[in-house]
Amino acid sequence: MFITFEGIDGSGKSTQMRHLATWLQERGQAVETMRDPGGTQVAEQVRTLLLDPTSSLDNRTELFLFAAARAQLVAERIRPALQAGRVVLCDRFYDSTTAYQGGGRNTVPRAWLHSLHEQTTGGLMPTRTYLIDVPVEEAARRRRGESDDRMEQEAWAFHERVRTTYRSLAEEEPTRVCCIDGTQSPVQVQGAIRADLKAIWPS
Ligand code: C5P
Repeated sequence: MFITFEGIDGSGKSTQMRHLATWLQERGQAVETMRDPGGTQVAEQVRTLLLDPTSSLDNRTELFLFAAARAQLVAERIRPALQAGRVVLCDRFYDSTTAYQGGGRNTVPRAWLHSLHEQTTGGLMPTRTYLIDVPVEEAARRRRGESDDRMEQEAWAFHERVRTTYRSLAEEEPTRVCCIDGTQSPVQVQGAIRADLKAIWPS
């Protein structure tokens, strides 16, 4: 079981992932949590480069660095964990690239990204993806005062395009991407995730 969490910055996805991990562990599951980009030594180095506000990155360089970090994470951690029968929870995965580098920056055509994701992951797809959807204003309000990384300094319209792309993914792939109203309380959001997971995975 491979579950990913997606959403714009300030959506609360990372908190939700942690709560779900605890709940699954209490139910006796062997769980591994990770983040993309990151999760391995090389991928964390790539992450540092990507998020550094002083990095001057061409859009294509950015796209391929995210893909490179993901390829390493899949090979080094995700595939081995899944093969060992563990539940893998990942904070962001290739839908982030579709939303940010595709929708946000419009670096390459959307159709082309499908091939990139397939090559990056060797065909590995999340079993279920929870998209925690919040309006851009709400997310910005929650993030106020936090230190901004390179992408968080982007204009409002960029984050709107990212959100719109995420929502379109949920419409296009309803059996994989489950869109949850992130304006609810954190307890309600977690309840919605657990209810969905119980329905698709009764174990
Ligand atoms: O969610 P997390 O804090 O790990 O994301 C780090 C930063 O990288 C965020 O600002 C996020 O918007 C950005 N990001 C991105 N493209 C991706 C993944 C993350 O711009 N594919």
